[in-house]
Amino acid sequence: MIYLISDLHLEESRPDITGAFLSFLDEIQARASALYILGDFFETWIGDDENTPLQQQIRLRLKAFSSSGISLYIMHGNRDFLIGEQFCRETGATLLEDPSIVDLYGQRVLLMHGDSLCTRDTAYMKFRQTIRNPAFLTTFLQRPLDERRTTARQLREMSQAGNKGKSMEIMDVTPEEVPKVMMQHQVKTLIHGHTHRPAVHDVALDNKQGRRIVLGDWDREIWFLQVDREGETSLQHSPFPS
Ligand code: MN
Repeated sequence: MIYLISDLHLEESRPDITGAFLSFLDEIQARASALYILGDFFETWIGDDENTPLQQQIRLRLKAFSSSGISLYIMHGNRDFLIGEQFCRETGATLLEDPSIVDLYGQRVLLMHGDSLCTRDTAYMKFRQTIRNPAFLTTFLQRPLDERRTTARQLREMSQAGNKGKSMEIMDVTPEEVPKVMMQHQVKTLIHGHTHRPAVHDVALDNKQGRRIVLGDWDREIWFLQVDREGETSLQHSPFPS
């Protein structure tokens, strides 16, 4: 089986999510051949040199998971795009570009975090461009950890304040972007997260039918997409273990 998850938003103040994730790994370990994490795995990531108890726990568990022979892939989200090579080495993960085309048991599939599809949110798109600038990031990563923590908190507060006035439509994907990006990459399946609106949507592509699978966030439930060896997909959710 191949599993895809996103938007866990792991953080110290949510041990319930961490617990659910660790149980999820225990659950799938015996039958998983690959796990794809499509962004916003962590609520914040200010550099691989930080190692809080939560981060250390996750690093060690992922290392054990990948060492058991399961391929582990991670894509940046808008909250954890500073995950770097060091984290990948320590966990045995492969960093995936956003977007990436992968082969899931013979199916050609496009994977994205999803934020780049929300083009109607022009303020965010502009912010994204600024913050992902390599020169900005290099400078940021050279600053002491406590300064980076302060900046990250300020940016998060600004983003939350900015999102308050935005409509639900603006913060969802732009409908026209979906077939555009799928035809550009010549795929019939797109899988992404970010919007926290888990669903399977039909997408009309020129002369054929495609689909867009949106993964769910882990605020209240475990959400994952399972792909079996026949290529059958199922989007599943289950309550956190008690
Ligand atoms: Mn996101």
